[in-house]
Order: sequence, then structure tokens, then C-alpha cells
Amino acid sequence: MIEFDVAQQRLAQAGQIPTQTESCELAQALGRILAVDIQAQLDMPPADNSAMDGYALRLSDIADGKVLPIQQRCYAGDIPQTLKEGMAIRIFTGSMLPPGADTVVIQENCQENEQGVRILEMPQAGVNIRRRGEDMRMGEVLIKTGTRLTAAHIAQMAAQGHAQLTVYPMLSVGILTTGDELTPAGQPLKEGQIYNSNAPMLRAQLQALGVGTVHAVHAKDTLEAIQDALKDLLQRCDLVLTVGGVSVGEKDFVKPAIEGIGGQLDLWKVRMKPGKPLALAYIDDKPLVCLPGNPVSSYAVFSLMVSPLIRRLQGRHASLPTVRYGILQGGRHFEGDREEFIRVQVDNDEQGRLLARPFDNQGSGVISSLPWAQALARIPADTHVAPGDVVRLYEYSQWQA
Ligand code: AMP
Ligand code: MG
Repeated sequence: MIEFDVAQQRLAQAGQIPTQTESCELAQALGRILAVDIQAQLDMPPADNSAMDGYALRLSDIADGKVLPIQQRCYAGDIPQTLKEGMAIRIFTGSMLPPGADTVVIQENCQENEQGVRILEMPQAGVNIRRRGEDMRMGEVLIKTGTRLTAAHIAQMAAQGHAQLTVYPMLSVGILTTGDELTPAGQPLKEGQIYNSNAPMLRAQLQALGVGTVHAVHAKDTLEAIQDALKDLLQRCDLVLTVGGVSVGEKDFVKPAIEGIGGQLDLWKVRMKPGKPLALAYIDDKPLVCLPGNPVSSYAVFSLMVSPLIRRLQGRHASLPTVRYGILQGGRHFEGDREEFIRVQVDNDEQGRLLARPFDNQGSGVISSLPWAQALARIPADTHVAPGDVVRLYEYSQWQA
């Protein structure tokens, strides 16, 4: 059996970062992966400016409490005059700082009349000024290659005037579900059938990761049907996932189908629960991963084992998200000979510590545990874990993003 962390690393490295790049408009950039470092092409702010509504002046001019005549009213976007001696310039948030001024006094501490402005409270020298380049400096690397872009990154790039970005192409991933007992949602359910939940689930997981196109195909449990579907998907996709049909049952045709079209199937027994069987193959250099059929296993294996591979194929610099720690709640003790990933709800206690409360039924077919939980808590193999112990948390929000 392969240890969980080893299998996870190996799978993450089963793909290559993309060799091609493409151009993308800033307005379409949410969720895309940067293919070049983004540099500052401007100092930000581009000039010293006011952080507040108030009056720009020379501190030395107000030492004796006299009234300063108003030389100019300078709104944001206006060009300020050079400040004359003994005068003040009315200024607003974002107005450029007039040459000669060294301090901005907020309007709440001033009194203005026809003669000018009187300062009611002495300011400290240099306050309320945002200095040129204090936020970003020209030439500085702002966002690294391999970053998945969020609204925050988009704000930063927009502030720099970047309208066109270089990103990696979006992935296309195929899902092949198998099983004569499966019916797609929306159709009447015949006796002996269940609905196909893995295909929509995996599609959604792929979408959440930012995969561009998902082709989901269902094949009957015959060698020919599975082979035809595989050939079709391999042509259209960068990566193919199969679900179910890969163990030793009489109708488990995925393995022979892959071998029949030239794939070499590397079957791993991973020391994890749920989801022990996992297989990796390459066909014409394209990776193909076989997932277990039980919905909870499929969900966990996708999140923990396949998503790092997808992040790598997307060109992201970090393929393994962070893991946090929480305190196990409830009355159950855990111990087993495999790394176990249990569905838990995550809350905070009054000290802000994370608490992990397990779902009652941890069976690998229990779909209702999935939306109930927010994380998978890791119980190490061959370790007795009791309520109150600290466990590692693989939060959905990170492992599916
Ligand atoms: P298998 O590996 O094909 O024997 O599947 C294991 C279990 O998972 C069986 O109970 C299947 O009915 C179930 N299963 C397989 N694929 C799916 C799917 N796409 N949606 C829901 N359940 C599935
Ligand atoms: Mg099956």
C-alpha cells in the first residue's frame, strides 16, 4: 500500500504545467491562472496626494495661530498650484498635494470664513499625506506567475492600468461514469436503478477549480462502450477521470478498456479511507485517473488527490492548499490502519479555536454527510484519536478552489 502523502505528491506530479499561454481581458480574468509575473508599471499613488478632506499648508505658517487665506480650491483630478507663503489650499481626498505644502489638516480641525482658514488644533508634521509609491513601486513584482486571480488581484492590476493579461489556457476535463444501475437526474427511475450523482458532483468540483470545459459521458458496463467513450474523451480533453468499475467485479471493465487502447494502468492501493483504490494511466501522454464509485470516496479522492493534479495542469504555483488544525468534538474515538478522512462540521469556540464535529454515519456511500460538513478531518493511521485531540482539517473551501 502507498502512503497517502506519497500518493498525493506522486499524483500532483503526474501532469506538466502548460507550455502554451493566451491573452485574456481583465474583465474576463476572474479565476484565470497568470502565466507571467505582473509588474507595477506605475508608482502608486503616482504623486503625493491627500488622504483626507482638509487644507494643505506649511506647518511653519500656522505656528502663531493666524488665519491663512485660501489660495486655490483643488479637487481630486485638478492640478494644484505651488503653495504661496502664508496661504492654504483647500484640498480633498485624492487631490494632488500642492508643491510647497508639507501637511494636510483635516477639515474637522479647521474653521473657514471669507478671510481664510483658522487651524483649531495643531497637526503633526506631514500627516494625512499618501506618498508617491508607498503602495506600489514601478518595476516591483506584484503578482506571481501561477496565481489564480481573485477580485483582489483584479483590483490591483486595474489600478496599474493592465487591461490585457497573459494567462494559461483553460483546461478541458472528461468524466466517464460507468454502471448499468445509473440513471441521469431528470429521468424516471426504474426499479433497481439509482441516480448518477458522481457525474454532476465531479463536474461541479471541476468548475469550482476553474476548469474551462467539462465533458461528462456515461458508458454501459461493456468493454466496447467504455473503450469508445474513453477514445472520444481523450481526443477532446487534457485529462480524463473515470468513476467506478475499476475493482475486481465481473462488470468492472475500466482496466481492460484502458489497456485495450494502449494505456498502462498503474493501480495504487492508497492507505486512505475512504478511497483505497486509485489508478493512474497515460494514453498518448495524457493522464487518466480512475476514481472509486462510492460517492463519498469519489468526493474525497477528487478533493485530496486529483485536485492537486488539476492545479498543476492549470499552471498554478501551489498545488496543495493549506491544512488547518481543529479540535475533535463528539463522543466517538477513532482508530484504524489507514489514514481516515471523516466528514466534520467546523465551528469556532469562544477563544477562536476551530472545532470539528463528525457526522454520525461515516459510511462511504452516505451522500448526506457531504453537504452537512465543511471539511474532511484527518485521523492518522494506527493512532488512537479521542475527542479533545487536535486533528488536521482539509476544508472544502480550500481543497475545491
Ligand atoms: P463500482 O466501483 O462501479 O462497483 O461502484 C461502487 C459503488 O458506487 C456502487 O454502489 C455504485 O452503484 C456506486 N456508484 C458508482 N458510480 C456512481 C455514480 N456515478 N453515481 C452514484 N453512485 C455510483
Ligand atoms: Mg459499477
